[in-house]
Amino acid sequence: MLLREVSYARPATVEEAISLLSTQAGARPLAGGQTIVNVMKARAAAPDVLVDLADLEDLRTIGFSGDGLLELGATVTYTQLVASSEVEVARPILAEVAATIADVQVRNRGTVGGNVCVADPTNHLPPLLVALDATFTIRGEDGERTVSAEEFFVGVYMTAVGEGELLTKVSVPPSKGAGDGFAGLTIGTHGTYVVDAAASVSDAGVRIVLGCVAAVPVRATPMEEKLAGGDLSEDAVRAAAKGLGATLDPPSDVHGSADYRRHLAEVSAIRACLQAASRRKGA
Ligand SMILES: Cc1cc2nc3c(=O)[nH]c(=O)nc-3n(C[C@H](O)[C@H](O)[C@H](O)COP(=O)(O)OP(=O)(O)OC[C@H]3O[C@@H](n4cnc5c(N)ncnc54)[C@H](O)[C@@H]3O)c2cc1C
Repeated sequence: MLLREVSYARPATVEEAISLLSTQAGARPLAGGQTIVNVMKARAAAPDVLVDLADLEDLRTIGFSGDGLLELGATVTYTQLVASSEVEVARPILAEVAATIADVQVRNRGTVGGNVCVADPTNHLPPLLVALDATFTIRGEDGERTVSAEEFFVGVYMTAVGEGELLTKVSVPPSKGAGDGFAGLTIGTHGTYVVDAAASVSDAGVRIVLGCVAAVPVRATPMEEKLAGGDLSEDAVRAAAKGLGATLDPPSDVHGSADYRRHLAEVSAIRACLQAASRRKGA
């Protein structure tokens, strides 16, 4: 289907992009276009102005902050994540998961910022970034603020990014010997997840986060608490996951009933946690 008529702007700086977004009615950022163009074609969204982020070099870089955080510019693509030596050193799970998103075309165009800003509950990066305790930097006319991953995701297709604002970067703590894991069931190879789980095991404890079971990523807090004593043997992890499904209220749809998703949540959490534990330095 052809797109409805839409204005197009291609700012050269982040400041110009924010100015356009906050002054033009119905303006929306355009990153990789892998979601927004499709929803425009389906007439599910109809922005009046697309503000293309393609020329904003500042948003396309991967580097480290002064205090050692891995900084991913909002328009870093999945292909960049996969190829990045910084990601490989600091948090290789990001490259591992990005390499499994959809197909090569989507990976070449799709961006970190677009993946999280669309806040689709089935997207790969939201649960992973919550498990890694990432922080998100949002800029608007009034300045810059930083929110935690848990505060960032507000609902289906809703985030902490307000009208006229732009997500500029995602900052991820370096692993410092932590082990990270990701597991779940997809619809076909490299397909969308039916349920997924991300886990990170570090000196600070265990973080386990479930995707596709609610509007936003869900911390598996009961399981994390049961593992707080530090025993991450297979028996202990399996025992800790028991009953996790009963704490969830997932949707039923054509891909699986709520009960099946509860079961998948337990299995995925066990697999992600055991993978993370096995990858922890010294494990
Ligand atoms: C066939 C296909 C299969 C897919 N399968 C998967 C999958 O299995 N898992 C998965 O995770 N994803 C999947 N995707 C989605 C893909 O990852 C998209 O790239 C992603 O959801 C959106 O990223 P984008 O850069 O293309 O964003 P866009 O489509 O350009 O933008 C998405 C939304 O985010 C907003 N936005 C973008 N950047 C910013 C920013 N910096 N600040 C504020 N708002 C911003 C836009 O205004 C828009 O509302 C699939 C896509 C396709 C086409």
